[in-house]
Amino acid sequence: MSNTYWLNGKYINKEDAHVSPLTHTLHYGLGAFEGVRSYGSTDGDNVNIFRLKEHTERLFESAKIINVSINHTVDEVMEAQIGVISKSDLKDAYIRPLLYLNDERLGLDIVGMSSHLMISCWDWPTYFGAESIEQGIDVMISSFTRQFPNSIMTKSKITGGYVNGVMAHDQAKNNGYQEAILLDTNGFVAEGSGQNIFIVKNGNLLTPELTCCLNGITRRSVIQMAKDKGIEVHERQITRDELYTADEIFFSGTAVEITPIRSVDKVVIGQGKRGEITKIIQETYLGIARGEIKEYDHWLSRV
Ligand code: PMP
Repeated sequence: MSNTYWLNGKYINKEDAHVSPLTHTLHYGLGAFEGVRSYGSTDGDNVNIFRLKEHTERLFESAKIINVSINHTVDEVMEAQIGVISKSDLKDAYIRPLLYLNDERLGLDIVGMSSHLMISCWDWPTYFGAESIEQGIDVMISSFTRQFPNSIMTKSKITGGYVNGVMAHDQAKNNGYQEAILLDTNGFVAEGSGQNIFIVKNGNLLTPELTCCLNGITRRSVIQMAKDKGIEVHERQITRDELYTADEIFFSGTAVEITPIRSVDKVVIGQGKRGEITKIIQETYLGIARGEIKEYDHWLSRV
C-alpha cells in the first residue's frame, strides 16, 4: 500500500487520512470509484498507466449518473493518479480513485452535501494466482442475478452496486470455485462479479451487448485488438448453454487482465485450459501494457 494518498487536491500521508463513521457513502453506498492499473515497461525504463483518460472519463460519467459532483477537472484527476504512483515507487500497481459523500448529515436527501475525491494505490500481483494465466479458472453460474439496468444502473461503478458482485463472488468461493458468472434478469449472460466475459466459437469472439454489464475498458481494448488482428467480434445476447459449448471463454478486466476460464459449473470448456485465441489476446494485452507494442502507445500515460 502506498504511503501517500491524494485527497481533494492535496497529497497527504496515509496516517493523516481519516474518515468519519458518519460518512454518508459508508451508510448508503452512494459513491463511485475506478480501478486503474500501472505497469512497469519491459525495457525497465518507464512506468505507464493503462488507458488513464478512459478510466478518468468513466469516473466522471459515474459521478454524473449518481448526481455527485467532482470538484476537479479530468486533467487534474489524471495528474493526481500519475502523482500517487510516482510518489509510491510502485511499478505494477492498482490505482483506486474513490468519490464519496462526506458526513454533514445522514438521510436520503443528498442536496448540498459535499463530495470528496480520494486516490490511493497499492501493489498488484496476478488476481487469481500466476497459474491461472495459462491454466484458467473454474467458475460457476451464480444464483444471484446481475442488477437490472433500471435498478442500479450498469454504466457506472457505483460503490453500493458492488454488494451484488461481492455476494456472488463470495458464494462462488464458498462453493469451491474461483469466480462467478452472473446472468441478467432475462437469463442471458451478463458478466463476472467484476469482469466482462468473452466466448470464442468457431474462431469468432462473442460478448454480451452493453445492456446489463459495465462498459469495461479492457472489454473495449479486447474488441479493438481482436478487430486489428482480423478476428470477428459479435456483441449479442449469450445463453448459458453457449457457455458450456464454447471453444474458449475468458474474463476481461483491469484487475484480472485476460483470465481464461477452464470450466463453468464443472463443465470443461474446450481443452480445459487457455485456448489459442485467448492466448493471442492475453499476450497482446500484456505486451501493450508493458510498452512492447508501439502501435498502441497512445493507450499508455507515462508516470
Ligand atoms: N464489470 C464490472 C462489474 C466491473 O467492476 C469491472 C471492473 N471495473 C469490469 C466489468 C471490467 O471493467 P474494466 O475492464 O474497465 O476494468
